[in-house]
Amino acid sequence: MPAPDSVPIPAASTRVLRVALPLPLPRLFDYRSADGPADPAAIGCRVRVPFGPRELVGVVADVGAPADGIDGLREAIAVLDAAPLLRGELFDSLQWLARYNHAPLGEVFATALPSMLRRGEPLPETDTWAWQLTEAGLAARTGLRAGSRPRRLADCLADGGRDEDALADTVDGWRAAARSLAVRGLIERVPATTASQAPTPIPGPIANDEQAAAIDALVQARQQFAPMLLDGVTGSGKTEVYLQAIADCLARGRQALVLVPEIGLTPQMLARFRARLGVPVHALHSDLGDTQRARVWAAAWRGEARVIVGTRSAVFTPLPDAGLIVVDEEHDASYKQQDGIRYNARDFALVRAKALGVPVLLGSATPSLESLHNATLGRYAHLRLHKRAGVAQAPSVRVIDVRKRPLQAGLSQQLLDAMAAALAAGGQVLVFKNRRGYAPVLLCHDCGWTAHCQRCSTPANSTAMTVHAGGRRLQCHHCGARRPVPPACPDCGALALQPQGNGTERIEEFLAQHFADVPVLRVDRGSTRRRDSLEALLDGFGTQPGILVGTQMLAKGHDLPNLTLVAVVGIDEGLFSADFRAHEKVAQMLVQVAGRAGRATRPGAVWLQTHHPQHPLLQTLIEGGYHAFAGQELAQREAAGFPPFAHLALLRAEAASADPPTAFLQAARGLLGDAAGVDLHGPLPAPMPRRAGMQRVQLLLSAIERRSLHAALDAIVPRLHALPEARKVRWSIDVDPLDLY
Ligand code: ADP
Ligand code: ZN
Ligand code: ZN
Repeated sequence: MPAPDSVPIPAASTRVLRVALPLPLPRLFDYRSADGPADPAAIGCRVRVPFGPRELVGVVADVGAPADGIDGLREAIAVLDAAPLLRGELFDSLQWLARYNHAPLGEVFATALPSMLRRGEPLPETDTWAWQLTEAGLAARTGLRAGSRPRRLADCLADGGRDEDALADTVDGWRAAARSLAVRGLIERVPATTASQAPTPIPGPIANDEQAAAIDALVQARQQFAPMLLDGVTGSGKTEVYLQAIADCLARGRQALVLVPEIGLTPQMLARFRARLGVPVHALHSDLGDTQRARVWAAAWRGEARVIVGTRSAVFTPLPDAGLIVVDEEHDASYKQQDGIRYNARDFALVRAKALGVPVLLGSATPSLESLHNATLGRYAHLRLHKRAGVAQAPSVRVIDVRKRPLQAGLSQQLLDAMAAALAAGGQVLVFKNRRGYAPVLLCHDCGWTAHCQRCSTPANSTAMTVHAGGRRLQCHHCGARRPVPPACPDCGALALQPQGNGTERIEEFLAQHFADVPVLRVDRGSTRRRDSLEALLDGFGTQPGILVGTQMLAKGHDLPNLTLVAVVGIDEGLFSADFRAHEKVAQMLVQVAGRAGRATRPGAVWLQTHHPQHPLLQTLIEGGYHAFAGQELAQREAAGFPPFAHLALLRAEAASADPPTAFLQAARGLLGDAAGVDLHGPLPAPMPRRAGMQRVQLLLSAIERRSLHAALDAIVPRLHALPEARKVRWSIDVDPLDLY
């Protein structure tokens, strides 16, 4: 006899499918199963269901008694998978993510699945095909025109057959090239398993003492959760540590997942991994087509993919045989998704590693203050690499005070002389300016009018449009709006419009004139949209003397062994930003870009040009390095009650006018009442109060204890969805926001 207060187990005959649908509603939806009582084996399978007049694809989150009785429930159309796509650890971790982000489970599941699977298409086959040179191809390869695509493809196959996936990563447009070579009988297509497989692994350098200690710590941890911060200066051999740890993981028959920032996933880096590990390396990044993404996901799900290297969303890769997770450049902001489900891939990697019982390695030359704090508290093992590996030397840093000095395109004569000297000595120069476009402002010299974005500015808060295209176009960096530069001032009619200040375009223009005999290459989001176009640009740049001008896209990625001078000319803006993470970001950017100099045998120098040579941040960084800066900054965060000493969540709302978002957030504040242990700030206009025509308002929740913050959100989120005010606004919750914008 069951105790009177126990929950009755539903009779099998009344069990229904409880489905998580990709809708912004914090609940599951019940459906009758088409073939009798719902089978618990369906949990984690995708299911197609009717929803109003539409059909949706969701994931079975549970089977059980329907929440509101079985009468009137609609019948599911079909369960789409024979075996659950989301199962075991991944299923559980995603449930955790939904709770932690206070996000609907259906939206979290949809975020985790590749778009092809989200649409309900079958899990793709992973039988892969490879291409290899024929005997004739081996003989004819060097006769193909140098630099042509067929030649590059043939060269790529010279040391063995390659998977089609691998080819897609290394030779763009390889399919057309393959067709033309195949017609001539020079290459052939074979199942990947029979191809003369990946080259045997090339041994790496012998680890130095600090590397050996780090590798040893990882190998010792083996099959248990062990978070580790690999804190090593640029070029100290962190990637070598990853490679050896992955090799150990493979030797134990386990899968390794490596997360890298968007910009770090270069063909160069993948080639290094493939060569060193001697197994196929599966890449997951934003340039992949839908099918290819789903194929890699499926290969991981089947346990066939042993090494997966990917950007943010790769953190959702199924890992049935997990052995290791690596997060490279763990401080990088690209790990945080800024819309939809606002997850942080680094943090979710830790959660998954814990659930999987495997070590997780966070690597960086400039660790986030959160991670450093966790290392200090002993929550993470702190592995340090203090010196550059091999023969490379740390670059010397020197500050140029440019107050009252004449500048050309924002560059001082001293800096230009140093550049000339570096080029004359056969080196390459990088000019770092974190502002793309031609000039940040367009000014009327007669009346003082400046160009503003009509969709972002307010009278109290103006947003200048950036001048682009050599002075012909205006562009808003906040909403993307574009318009031509007007022929005359719209206010006074004078022909006196002048671009003010310097962006990368203008610096490029100036340098191309000033150093007419070397190539000048600009790298920013305007010049390179795709990863492989950046790679092609840098390949073309070669190792001859030349100048690169760019934004933080250049702070990481492609290795430039001949780079001997880094000139930093645009960081002053960041020194005075109000955002609590602004200093951390500037410091990381400076250290990372400085780390590009002198990566090989030639020593490097960093010249930092500023109007604020006495700024404490610069002083501390130059005298004490990143860790000295981090120590000071952590003390300030503690005093001011900011993360990692407090936990934040930001409720954002926006609408065409400011009243509905304010009313919604006021109602939210009312629901929160005086939640124990939570401080409320707002509703207040966002630091950027208007963007793309929308008025933006926010309510900040701050708590010393993470628990209090989540208890407060748990209590109100379902009621927020039900508020009448919620229907008049777009709103979102951001737990652990990266910035407060
Ligand atoms: P990081 O990832 O920290 O920037 P890398 O692993 O890319 O550093 O190493 C930087 C350079 O030093 C690479 O060219 C690498 O091959 C080399 N290197 C790394 N470890 C060693 C070592 N123990 N001995 C010699 N060279 C090394
Ligand atoms: Zn004017
Ligand atoms: Zn705008």
